Amino acid sequence: MSRPVPAIVILGNGSLATARKIQQVYPGALIHGLAERVEGADRVYHEFGATLREFYQQDLPIIALCAAGIVIRTLAPLLLEKGAEPPVLAVAEDGSAVVPLLGGLGGVNVMAREIAAGLDVSAAITTSGELRFGTCLLNPPSGYTLGDLELGKRFVSDLLAGQQVRIEGAAPWLAQAQLPEDPEAPLSIHIGSAERAPAANELMIYPRSVLVAVSGEITQVPSAIRAALRQANIAVQSLACLLASEQQMANPALREAALELGVPLRFASVGGDVSELARHALPDAAIVSQGNGLAIALASQPLDLAQIGRARGRLAVIGLGPGAAELMVPAVKAELARANDVLGYETYVRMAGPFRADQVLHCTDNREEMQRARHAFELAAQGRSVVVVSSGDPGVFAMAAAVLEALHESSEPSWHSVDLEILPGVSASLATAAQAGAPLGHDFCVMSLSDNLKPWAIIEKRLDLASQADLALAFYNPISRSRPWQLGRALEIVAQHRTAETPVVLGRDIGRPGQTLRVITLGQLTPDQVDMRTMVLIGSSTTCIFPRAEGGQWVYTPRWYGDKPAS
Ligand code: SAH
Repeated sequence: MSRPVPAIVILGNGSLATARKIQQVYPGALIHGLAERVEGADRVYHEFGATLREFYQQDLPIIALCAAGIVIRTLAPLLLEKGAEPPVLAVAEDGSAVVPLLGGLGGVNVMAREIAAGLDVSAAITTSGELRFGTCLLNPPSGYTLGDLELGKRFVSDLLAGQQVRIEGAAPWLAQAQLPEDPEAPLSIHIGSAERAPAANELMIYPRSVLVAVSGEITQVPSAIRAALRQANIAVQSLACLLASEQQMANPALREAALELGVPLRFASVGGDVSELARHALPDAAIVSQGNGLAIALASQPLDLAQIGRARGRLAVIGLGPGAAELMVPAVKAELARANDVLGYETYVRMAGPFRADQVLHCTDNREEMQRARHAFELAAQGRSVVVVSSGDPGVFAMAAAVLEALHESSEPSWHSVDLEILPGVSASLATAAQAGAPLGHDFCVMSLSDNLKPWAIIEKRLDLASQADLALAFYNPISRSRPWQLGRALEIVAQHRTAETPVVLGRDIGRPGQTLRVITLGQLTPDQVDMRTMVLIGSSTTCIFPRAEGGQWVYTPRWYGDKPAS
C-alpha cells in the first residue's frame, strides 16, 4: 500500500522556503500555514494544536516546521490512546535538522532520511536497530508482513545485544540491511508463506504472494477462504488479494470479505471458472488448491497488484460546503485526496484544490451537467477513482441528481457496477442561516427560483402555497442576467402573505473571501440588492430579530408555533 501524502505544517513565513523543498520530496503534499502569519501556503489553518491533532487522528504523516517540544506537547494528550500512529517529524525552520518523533513502525525514519536527503543534511535517527542495521526489521516494506510485533521487538533487542542471525528464504530488502549474519546462528528470520507456529528464536516474515480467486456464489467468504488456506498450509498473512470476475463487481459479500481480510479486491474479465481466473492473472504461479468456488495461486514473489485485473471504479459526488475549508466535511477531504479524476464547474474545481500533479482535472461549463455526469461514469467504469464536485451540498440543486439520472437512463452494466457514493456538504442556506442566527429554526421551504429546468408557473404556485403555509423561505438561484424579472415577481407573491416587517437575510459569498451578510425586512428588499451569488432567506410570521452585542442583529425563528410553551 502506498503511504498517504504528508501534511507540512508551518507557523511563519520564515519556514516557507524549507517547506517548499520538502514538498519537492513529496509532490502533492500540501503546506498548511497559520492564518495571518503565513502568506502563500497551500492551505490556511487557524489553530495549530487542533490542526495537528486532527491530522494525527486522521493518520496523516505530519512534518511540522517548528520546535520538537511544541509538537510533543501538542500531541501528548493523544499518545496513549493510539495503537498504530502516523509518522510525525519536527524539522528546523531553516532546514538544518530533521527529527523523527513518532511512528517508528509507520516508517518515520525512512521519511526522515528522505527529507534529510532533500535538505542536504543528515537525519537525527535515534532508533538503535535502525542505526545498527540500516532498516527497521519491524516495518518490512510493502509486499511483506511481520508475523508478530511483540516477538519482533524481543528479536531486535537480542540482535542489538550482539546475537547473530541467519536468514531463511528470499527477501531482497533484508539482503541489503547490515544484519550480523551467520549461517550457524541460533536466531533466524524466516521468509515464507507456509502456515506454522514460529520455532523458538524465529522471526517470521510473510511475503504477500498469494492470490485467491473467488466465485460470486460462495457464502461466508472470509471463513471459506481461511479454511481453504489452512488446508493448503498457507498463512493468511501471505494473502495479497482476492480476484473475482467483472460480473461480480457490485457483489457486497465479496466487498465485505476483502475488507474483513484486509486485502484489495480486483476484477478480471476472463471466461471460465475460478482456476481459469487465477491462472490468467498469475500465469507463472502454482495453483495449489481449487474447488468449492475458490482457487488459490501461490507465486514465488510478492504480487504486483497493479498487474492483476483491475479495481472496482469509484464515483463520489461531493459537496464542498460554501467555500471555507473548515466547513468541508472530513469524508469529502479524504475523497479528494484519493481521487484520480476531478470533474466540475471550473470555479468549484479550483475551490476544491490544490491538487497533485497526478490528479486529472476536467473543468466544464456550469450548464453541461448531464454530459459531465456521463463522463464521470465513463472514467469510473475504467476502474478510476472519480470525484464530481458541487458547491454546498451535492443534493441541493446540484450534481447528485444529475449523476443518478445519468445512471438511471443507462443500461451499461459497467456503469451500474461503479461504487457510487454521495457525500454531503453544508448547503448555502444552512451556512447563511448559521451566520445570521437561526432563521430556519422552525419549518422551512427550500426553492430554486431558476426557471431553466421547470416552468415559471410551478414556481409561482409553490411560492404562493409555501408563503400561505407560513414556512420560512430559502431562495437559491434568486436572479441572473438571463432571469432579471423573476425575483421581483416572487417577492410580490410572498408579500401577499407576509408583512413588510418580516426579517430577511441576504448572504453573499458566504464562507468565501469578501462575504457579506445583511439583515433587512421584506419591505426593504428589492431585486437590485441580490445577485446570483446571494442566498435569500425570508422569515415566517414568527421570525424575530434583536441586537447583537458586537453590532448587527440576531435573527431567529422560534422552535414553537402558536402560544409559547411554559419553560
Ligand atoms: N448545491 C449548492 C447550491 C447550488 S445553486 C448548495 O447546496 O449550496 C447556486 C445558488 O446557491 C446560488 O445562486 C446562490 O443562491 C446559492 N449559493 C451557493 N453558494 C453560496 C454562498 N457561498 N453564499 C451565498 N449563496 C450561495
